[in-house]
Amino acid sequence: MSNLDFTSAEIPQALPSAESLANAEASIVTSLLDAGLGFEHVKKHLLNDIAPGFTGSSRCPNYYAFTTGAVTDAALFADWLASTYDQNVQVHLPKETIATGVEDTALRLLQQLLSFSEVDFPGRLFTTGATASNLLGMAVGREFVVAEAGRRNSPPVHASISQLGLLEACLQARVQNIQVLSTLPHSSLYKAASAVGIGRNSVVSLPLNIDEPWRFDMAALEQHLSNGAASIISISAGEVSSGRFATDGQEIAKIRALADKHGAWIHVDGAFGLQARILPQTEAYSALTDGVSGLHLADSITGDAHKLLNVPYDCGFFFTRHLALQQTVFSNPNSAYLSTTALSIPSPLNLGVENSRRFRALPVYASLLAYGRVWHCDLLERQIALARRVAAYIANSTAYELLPNDELDKVYIVVLFRARMRSLNTQLGSLLNASKKIHVSELQWMGQPATRIAVGTWRVDVERDFRVLVEALEAASGDTAWGQRR
Ligand SMILES: *Cc1c(COP(=O)(O)O)cnc(C)c1O
Repeated sequence: MSNLDFTSAEIPQALPSAESLANAEASIVTSLLDAGLGFEHVKKHLLNDIAPGFTGSSRCPNYYAFTTGAVTDAALFADWLASTYDQNVQVHLPKETIATGVEDTALRLLQQLLSFSEVDFPGRLFTTGATASNLLGMAVGREFVVAEAGRRNSPPVHASISQLGLLEACLQARVQNIQVLSTLPHSSLYKAASAVGIGRNSVVSLPLNIDEPWRFDMAALEQHLSNGAASIISISAGEVSSGRFATDGQEIAKIRALADKHGAWIHVDGAFGLQARILPQTEAYSALTDGVSGLHLADSITGDAHKLLNVPYDCGFFFTRHLALQQTVFSNPNSAYLSTTALSIPSPLNLGVENSRRFRALPVYASLLAYGRVWHCDLLERQIALARRVAAYIANSTAYELLPNDELDKVYIVVLFRARMRSLNTQLGSLLNASKKIHVSELQWMGQPATRIAVGTWRVDVERDFRVLVEALEAASGDTAWGQRR
């Protein structure tokens, strides 16, 4: 695959230099011009002045901070076509354009890639990202749990939030509280809970213990499900800082049984980990494949294609078993478009937030078609291999400590760690990022500063990138003669 390389053969920096940033800022034209500069002039301006002020998130293999993912050639080409043809993908109009047909197919191919049944998950949609998909999950989930509480009353009542509003539906269903039960949920879940009227405070984390806070405390989960509130269970698969998974296949079967007993909804936030479903069932990956097994038992699933497939930012997806309910919540009934409901492909405007929608499906379709299942699996294996090599280095070093623990077989595409020396740890992220050759995240883990390397690019080269990372780690610790701890 070529490097989309418009300037030089060198590996671009992970972050722009201070000078490039300052130049870019100084070059921005801030007053609207009466007469435009013309395309040629602006092209040069964008390439020569503005672009050097961008991060290397797509072009540099050693960008390990936000998992925007890079962009494959096939996806980039398709994205350009999507803009060129500027299709309307809100309404399914099969006699006018094939666009929604391509979108539906791309979603089905994704379901095939990730082993979710196309029949069991007829609700499928591209979104702007996992935040938007989590919002859909919370919106359809709350519709379900309140209606289900109403159905379980005697006599049963029909309590639809989408018709009556949250307050009236809850009154009729005699629901006093809606809770979202999770472990170390992504921040976007709180935002979704806020936006759909459940409330941030209603998101409850039920960690197993201090050593494995990403796993569900099954006893606490059962207790909360019995407390009379309407419940949405949100499974972090995986957790974004540590890359660990909330459940295994056996636990999720139990959670499904509990959810059915209590009328709860199961949502999966798989923005980070869903891709592990394509890994081979081998010993080396068993902790990961266990972590994503059984997810087909969920009611709704969030995925992030820009992270997992390296299509252009932004592209998320949402799957649900409950297509009719999804349409109940999101249908656009007063529009002139609705005569399309009887068609085989539901119009996307009735499935999600947007009316105007970008043709995000085309890059997904192109990428899956161009590279196939094996390439995607091989890519993930390379990403895991790099993460595990770096994790092993850290676990054996005197300067650094691997988080959340030393279990290398549980390492996914994330390396979470800290410096053992406190003074180094507080400035570790900035020291590592100072060279601009790599970019890592600084975050808090269990109340302490920690650093995260997230491998999310198809440009990964295990040998080369391992050397780059070790060099940076050694430079930061000033310890080139790092010893083996054990
Ligand atoms: C990245 C991520 C999100 C947010 O995704 P966006 O696409 O940025 O909206 C949500 N949940 C998890 C677990 C994530 O990793």
